[in-house]
Amino acid sequence: MLRARMMLRGLIKHCPRCGCGGLFQSFFTLRPTCLRCGLRFDREDGYWVGAMTIAVVVTMLLFIVVMAVVIIATWPDLPVVPLIVLGIALNTIFPIVSYPTMKTLWLAVDLAYFHPEVMREAWKVPQSGNASVGSSASAPHSDQEPS
Ligand SMILES: [Zn+2]
Repeated sequence: MLRARMMLRGLIKHCPRCGCGGLFQSFFTLRPTCLRCGLRFDREDGYWVGAMTIAVVVTMLLFIVVMAVVIIATWPDLPVVPLIVLGIALNTIFPIVSYPTMKTLWLAVDLAYFHPEVMREAWKVPQSGNASVGSSASAPHSDQEPS
């Protein structure tokens, strides 16, 4: 249940831990930490390879589905040139446009499956602006380096 909630938060580019939006400074640039819960996003060198992997897999699956639908719908008179143009466009534009979403989705996957201690702490993060609870909720961030 919590993992599904974290994945949904990642899919809408919100913090998987607390659900806070506004994680991006620009279209591609994540803030260093979540504005509400303080979760550090760039956790280690090469961390975003997971996001790129998700982007590649989703793009390949989307490409296969779109090609299959077009081929089945137009068989036997395949529109070869439009298919090639569509395939190239799909494989270049979709990964770029979806990359921010893939980043927050990867964050959710990483937290839910590889850092369960952070997942458990997600329940303790306040959903409202309660300052006293919010200050205690920032304490369990043992995965973060002090700055
Ligand atoms: Zn957060």
